Amino acid sequence: MATETVTEFRLRARSWLAENMPKRVREAAQAETTDDDEVWARARELQKMLYKGGFAGICFPKEYGGLGLSREYQDVFTEESDVYEMPLVLNVPTLSICAPTIMDMASEELKREHLPAVIRGDEVLVQFLSEPSGGSNLAGVLTRADRDGDSWILNGSKIWSSNAYAADYALCLARTDWDAPKHRGLTMFLIKVHQPGLTVRRIEQVNGQTEFCEEFFDDVIIPASAVVGEINDGWTVATRQLFHERTAVGGGSEFVSGRGARGEYLPSLSELAREVGLENETWARDLVAKAAAHRTVQEQLIPYVISKVEDGSLPGIAMSLIRLFHAETDWLESDVGLELAGAVGVAHDSTTVPGQFARHYLMRQGASLGGGSSEMSRNIISERLLRMPREAADDKDIPFREVRQGR
Ligand SMILES: Cc1cc2nc3c(=O)[nH]c(=O)nc-3n(C[C@H](O)[C@H](O)[C@H](O)COP(=O)(O)OP(=O)(O)OC[C@H]3O[C@@H](n4cnc5c(N)ncnc54)[C@H](O)[C@@H]3O)c2cc1C
Repeated sequence: MATETVTEFRLRARSWLAENMPKRVREAAQAETTDDDEVWARARELQKMLYKGGFAGICFPKEYGGLGLSREYQDVFTEESDVYEMPLVLNVPTLSICAPTIMDMASEELKREHLPAVIRGDEVLVQFLSEPSGGSNLAGVLTRADRDGDSWILNGSKIWSSNAYAADYALCLARTDWDAPKHRGLTMFLIKVHQPGLTVRRIEQVNGQTEFCEEFFDDVIIPASAVVGEINDGWTVATRQLFHERTAVGGGSEFVSGRGARGEYLPSLSELAREVGLENETWARDLVAKAAAHRTVQEQLIPYVISKVEDGSLPGIAMSLIRLFHAETDWLESDVGLELAGAVGVAHDSTTVPGQFARHYLMRQGASLGGGSSEMSRNIISERLLRMPREAADDKDIPFREVRQGR
């Protein structure tokens, strides 16, 4: 059968979406909520609908349940599906970070078990990377996995795992060799989130939401088959995962089910300006225009960086550019949003448009931390793209057990 062209695919998607998917209703409650069981049940349901209709996992290989098509097909589907209800909470990290990492790094057995399940909407995946001792120094994780015959025994704790409570499996980085230097004694595991010895606790944020979780591992038994990549080579897996994370958070992943990484239904700043009666004020128009210019640059930067990484003229770590620019754009929009919302926003009634911006502002710092901090992105860009001197690291080549902790 001749390959369907992008235009033919677009037209087929358009009519399928119109017949099968409900139109998106933007409700205040939908705006940024991912801490609600109903949202997750609905996302699984929507993903199943996409799968049944033959529009799930567009860029995933056919042998793992996807359609095996290129980014252009996903892009037109994203455009066409923008006005429909889509399982956006599955975008990050399930579809755009964890699944591609499994695809790139895991055993055939794990790929065949998990990738089709993700694409069918049967599995939600999350990341167990950050620890209370600090997320930036990822290679310094203290959670340990000790070999016990055919299994591993996991002990330690993780934190800031988005939506772990709603997930089935997690990619979990643990230390498996304390005599090796810090980057060389790590192993990545794909573990069940709900199992004996693993406690998930939800964290309440300043905006009242509880999507972040912390986990405690007390002698959790992991089968040997759960190792992703090679034993003690978890840093290679983590590096690939961070590549997918920067790409996804920066807004450049092709492995999504619909619009972009954020998955939020936040109104536009011009809508906000109209709502609060500032649409004819010069100062307000200037702010909206500045934010719009920034957003336009970001939208141009994403395909530019992706094309340069794909043709090999920039290394994969260049995704830090779009990751950083995402944070800068989000900060600017948050600041402009609050400025325009003013006192109405501060009253924080999240059923109103200004209230939605005020609520969004409370998570402003999140954009510069999630997916690795902006400072770490700047470090990567300066050291590895611009070739500036590297930050001193006196713990890099010594056995990890000799590295002093808690400094
Ligand atoms: C929205 C969101 C979603 C997240 N989801 C997940 C998730 O699903 N799973 C997960 O494991 N984690 C997740 N995180 C955690 C995130 O990865 C960490 O917050 C991040 O890596 C920073 O780690 P930290 O908060 O421990 O700060 P720290 O590492 O303690 O850093 C504190 C501050 O010091 C700065 N800093 C640290 N080291 C350096 C350095 N060498 N040079 C310059 N500045 C430095 C940092 O930039 C930061 O400003 C999420 C965070 C957010 C906000």
